[in-house]
Amino acid sequence: MLLGVHVSISGGIINGLEQAKRLRCTALQMFSHSPRTWRGAAIDDREIERFIALRRQYGIESLVLHVPYLINLAAPDNTLWRRSIESFTEDIRVADRLKADYFVTHIGGHKTKTISWGIKRFSRALNTILSRKTTRCTILLENTAGSGSGLGGSFEHIAEIFGRVKKRKSLGVCLDTAHAFQAGYDISTRGRTGGFVRLLEDTIGVDRVKVVHLNDSKTRLASHHDRHWHIGKGCIGSEGLSAIINHPLLRGKVFILETPKMEEGEDRRNLKKVGRLRR
Ligand SMILES: [Zn+2]
Ligand SMILES: [Zn+2]
Repeated sequence: MLLGVHVSISGGIINGLEQAKRLRCTALQMFSHSPRTWRGAAIDDREIERFIALRRQYGIESLVLHVPYLINLAAPDNTLWRRSIESFTEDIRVADRLKADYFVTHIGGHKTKTISWGIKRFSRALNTILSRKTTRCTILLENTAGSGSGLGGSFEHIAEIFGRVKKRKSLGVCLDTAHAFQAGYDISTRGRTGGFVRLLEDTIGVDRVKVVHLNDSKTRLASHHDRHWHIGKGCIGSEGLSAIINHPLLRGKVFILETPKMEEGEDRRNLKKVGRLRR
């Protein structure tokens, strides 16, 4: 099982690697720059080389980058939409330089338009990005809690985007367990999780899921309110999360924890808990 956490890059990308090493992770997720800015400071070639060498040395088998929050590839506003496409293209370039395996993106929000308008808009943006350049890393569409005008709460949205994107080989899915539960997919028991995986197979295809964001949920089923929580301590609970980790179709995926880090040692505790839930 490849398992890791989302690490902080305050103090630089090498610092992110060091955190993963201390936690004995075999995978990690990070932002390539501050998620609340459009553009990061340039990373020079020497730092990139060092990052790649250390990653190999530390046995981090899977490297996942996460899209910054400002990007909205479904934005109705043309200026914001174009800026998002440019910024996304630049971030993918950085991900490729870092030899990342995956680049996780949110599907954005249609704001005042409709879901179907937003899906078309997002797909157009993605086709533009993919027509410019062949990416080394796979772009993963993350499901969301489905709040407000946000797209991606329903697996149907993601399936439709797959139907509209031309270079499908560059595309996969990141399944966030907390978001799925908050969007209304019940995964709180072993039995329900079985049904959930069948539904995932019928809509998106489990093969397309490359990364699982393994999070418990602070909020109830179908809350549409995105709050991650510690493994086994939230509304999904240990039984459901254990059924996800051990499901024959999911156990080979890359698992990343995005659980809260308010106190020292919480990542370690959550990783240990995942270890205990594995069969
Ligand atoms: Zn995310
Ligand atoms: Zn997530």
